[in-house]
Amino acid sequence: MPAEKTALIIGASRGLGLGLVQRLTEQNWKVTATVRDPFKADALRANPDVRIETLDIDENASVEVLLQKLKGEVFDVLFVNAGVLGAAHQSAAQSTAAELGQLFMTNAVAPIRLAEYLIEQIRPDTGVVAFMSSVLGSVACPDGDTLGLYKASKAALNSMTNTFVGKLPEPRPTVLSLHPGWVKTDMGGENAEIDVLTSTTGLVKQLTDYAGKGGHHFINYKGETIAW
Ligand code: NAP
Repeated sequence: MPAEKTALIIGASRGLGLGLVQRLTEQNWKVTATVRDPFKADALRANPDVRIETLDIDENASVEVLLQKLKGEVFDVLFVNAGVLGAAHQSAAQSTAAELGQLFMTNAVAPIRLAEYLIEQIRPDTGVVAFMSSVLGSVACPDGDTLGLYKASKAALNSMTNTFVGKLPEPRPTVLSLHPGWVKTDMGGENAEIDVLTSTTGLVKQLTDYAGKGGHHFINYKGETIAW
């Protein structure tokens, strides 16, 4: 019997993160799922294949506690899903340093910092490090003109990921920058094009299809390549 696959999903309390955990455990993966507030993790707690840990990805102390708890463990997949939209105004003119700091920290810097800390615990060769990007992070993408700051934060994530990949020791896991589609979640809203089940079924297929391929790929939930 093949060994059980293991995944660490960051930001799994709701939306796409929760959906990823559900799809993976349906396929018999063992999942460690992080949430900011363990009292809002009932959907995860009911699942016997899920271990819940606490993490606010922005907070150094919180990251340090998680790293201690995961010491010595090896994962087939690290998926950094956590993300925020940022201030409703999405305006450079109205931005404060605190708002921008939080947006770029959560969406671009903290995901890479966490991956750097955990890289030796991701299986080399067949392992996958996935970041939840967005097609809106493509600098050529004309859509989302009301989401300028969010778009910039995902472009920054893609750029940070590119640098991260260049520094990876050999043998390298595959690195994916993933666009989940426009999905009905708290962030995506009810007018979004697809549901969480459709998106996360596709995303999990990409994790499996790309394992062992190596390199860095910017793709959507259907596996279609997106221009940087
Ligand atoms: P969501 O429903 O708003 O969920 C966001 C998740 O991120 C929640 O689990 C949230 O935890 C977590 N999170 C936020 N800040 C965090 C922090 N500092 N530390 C740890 N966890 C944090 O959004 P979603 O639609 O599922 O989005 C998930 C990812 O997909 C995001 O990166 C988003 O940018 C990306 N994305 C979404 C769409 C879409 O159409 N929905 C499209 C493209 C990309 P709490 O519950 O504690 O707040």
